[in-house]
Amino acid sequence: MKAWTVTSPGKLELVESPSESAGAGCVKIKVLESLISKPDVNVYSGKADVPLPVCPCGFCVGMVIETGADVHGLERGDRVFVRSQQSCGTCADCRAGKSWKCENTKIRGYSCDGFMRDFAVVPEADCVKIPDRVKNDEAVFIDYISLAVQTIAALDLDKGDYLAVCGASTLGIVLGQVALYYQAVPIIIDSNPEYLATAKSLGLYYTVDASETDPRTKIFHITGGKMAERVAHIASGNIPLSRSIDFTARGGMLAVIGRFGCIDAIPCSLENAVRNGITITGITNGAKNAQVAINMLVSKAVTVLPLINKTVSFDDIPSALEECATIKLNHFKTLIKFD
Ligand SMILES: [Zn+2]
Repeated sequence: MKAWTVTSPGKLELVESPSESAGAGCVKIKVLESLISKPDVNVYSGKADVPLPVCPCGFCVGMVIETGADVHGLERGDRVFVRSQQSCGTCADCRAGKSWKCENTKIRGYSCDGFMRDFAVVPEADCVKIPDRVKNDEAVFIDYISLAVQTIAALDLDKGDYLAVCGASTLGIVLGQVALYYQAVPIIIDSNPEYLATAKSLGLYYTVDASETDPRTKIFHITGGKMAERVAHIASGNIPLSRSIDFTARGGMLAVIGRFGCIDAIPCSLENAVRNGITITGITNGAKNAQVAINMLVSKAVTVLPLINKTVSFDDIPSALEECATIKLNHFKTLIKFD
């Protein structure tokens, strides 16, 4: 088995290891596709506070090539999405079949090995079977859609509610589409016009350029003077949290979303949040919503393919990762296709 591995900051090496068989409750998969995202760049550049060596990339679509004992829901040839969270299999939640709540969760590609490798052995409980109607290139985004669904639920979003999404990142644009599906009114805010153009092209009508206009006044007008009852602050985006608080209506709710805890420090004064009675909640895990996410892909409620702006092969990974690290990772995605 071959794995691109960050052995020290800025150094990615191809590490070969003996073939591994699927143990009890596990499946062996051939990795078909993965995505490079910001946590991978942070691991590579040494910004992430994680022990090295580690194989980056938390997203994976794979094909089952071997099943271990006690595997009942998957068989050879099945395509699966593997959750970014690695469950332990032994805690009370794992034993109750709720591996997404595992108290010993590790994050693949971050606090344990991810999928910049040709083969992997993973617990069946962390796999979600992909139906024929969903392409690999779409399924690799399942964690983003799951997290967006979790955000909508946490914010208790009702039909017709305004949802200000602060950050037109991959997650922000997916979240905007999921909000539309729930008949809410998303307002996408970012300081990069290109990201906003992508959001618009995917049906997100209200966009606000945070660098050009006074975004608060624009949101004031869009919402008929109410401001946004619900606000989603994308932790990895380019809007300061204090601005997101400014966009929130009095008594409203604000969700701070950091994918699986792979977040940087978030400095912010909470004075205005307290003054305006704003409820703030943190969201980092949407893993239990994977089936809902798949249904959204099947029904075309969410479109993700325009969020892929580059496709590379296994051999191209070092240059692709270096490019993401040195040219400032753009908000959308580099897809890795394995042969
Ligand atoms: Zn567990």
